[in-house]
Amino acid sequence: MSATAVERVSLALRRIREHDAMLKCVIHTLDESATQRARLLDTAPPTPASPLFGAPVAVKDNICTTDGLTTCGSKILANFKSPYDAHVIERLRDAGAVIVAKTNLDEFAMGSSTENSAFFSTRNPWDPERVPGGSSGGSIVAVAARLVPYALGSETGGSIRQPASFCGVTGLKPTYGRVSRFGLVAFASSLDQIGPVAVDARGVARLLRIIAGRDPRDSTSVDEPVPDYEAMLDEPTGKLRIGYAKEYFGEGLHPETRRVVEAAMEMYRKLGAEVFEISLPHSAYTIACYYLICTAEASSNLARFDGVRYGHRTAEPADYIDMYSATRDEGFGSEVKRRIMLGTYALSSGYYDAYYLKALKVRTLIKNDFLEAFKKCDVILSPTTPTPAFKLGEKSDNPLEMYLADIYNCAANLAGIPAISIPCGFTDAGLPVGLQLMAPHFAEARLLQAAHAYQQATDFHARRPPICAE
Ligand code: GLN
Repeated sequence: MSATAVERVSLALRRIREHDAMLKCVIHTLDESATQRARLLDTAPPTPASPLFGAPVAVKDNICTTDGLTTCGSKILANFKSPYDAHVIERLRDAGAVIVAKTNLDEFAMGSSTENSAFFSTRNPWDPERVPGGSSGGSIVAVAARLVPYALGSETGGSIRQPASFCGVTGLKPTYGRVSRFGLVAFASSLDQIGPVAVDARGVARLLRIIAGRDPRDSTSVDEPVPDYEAMLDEPTGKLRIGYAKEYFGEGLHPETRRVVEAAMEMYRKLGAEVFEISLPHSAYTIACYYLICTAEASSNLARFDGVRYGHRTAEPADYIDMYSATRDEGFGSEVKRRIMLGTYALSSGYYDAYYLKALKVRTLIKNDFLEAFKKCDVILSPTTPTPAFKLGEKSDNPLEMYLADIYNCAANLAGIPAISIPCGFTDAGLPVGLQLMAPHFAEARLLQAAHAYQQATDFHARRPPICAE
């Protein structure tokens, strides 16, 4: 692309101005810093030339940037300015990318619809009466509506894949340890991971190469070589063995989602893959296990928001205990409070063994299911979500139903394996359906190759929603 960085960044900012009043995917834009950086890039372009030169990127607002604020979609951090940039932000900037906007999310990334944001709900560009999914709804919509070519989201239990599926874009949850979380506001530390979002596997591969790799500031990031994922997309892979997990095709799967995903399986067969049934026998425990672990860890991580060090503090506390409790009462929304209470309970003396420890044991069983399955197949295929995007407000009063929106996603987070969602078709009403592929630890290249092969043969990823730039 021959456009200058200033042109690319101005175009993204203009598209956001034009469309975001409707979509509400952005919490704030970074007009000034973005324009300034773009000018600098044009004056002194990086050598060697970077594939991300001048590329506008939208970033989920739980990833710290020194430009603008980092709110986590929460009142408690509504005016929080980070003193440092997240590792992924530094990597993107070094690669010549420009952060143009911070995107909306469920408060502290807790949710599946982006309706738990303290500020506003984001809309699905395929049908503004429907949710975009969550919690990375803002980043996903920014890409789906073609406001920006790239975005970063975060995953604890499906928060990139589930909205990618609802909005028809490509989103990847990397292996736990693949990408540094330095500067990602922690939700559940044994699960959290930052991941790339783009229209197709090529864009995701390009971003992943930049953000992946060891960072001494995150001791869970692994010193595993980072391949050139994009260059590997077209490498011959031999006959791909695809296992479809029978537990992910059972009760609760929407008939249209099933139809579309089964057609995608046929397409893989046509492309020469071997597609056969496998089993992940402990799947039924995924949601219970995930919600015990993530709430326990969240209750500990969110203890730091006490009105002393960050963000909001209550106006006139009676004493210091009142200061903590009133600050937290005013600052946190109801889903965050629910998680803190559940997690505190699961960790409390006398209950720890029965809940948290038990969940950790179940987590090992779930992980072992995958290790067993990968002895027979190269990737595991399933629908990304049991249904297409639901209506705004439809599940807001029923947290359990909302939790079930990630039923096919959380196992990959528990097992620590990489997983991708790619667009694979539409319902009769024109809503996108996502296909999920999962691979063994650090086999992101294999996932991206499988996704790319499918996208070479189909055009679902290239279809644009009704609310879209240009
Ligand atoms: N729906 C999941 C939750 O609410 C997703 C979280 C995430 O991946 N950040 O916990």
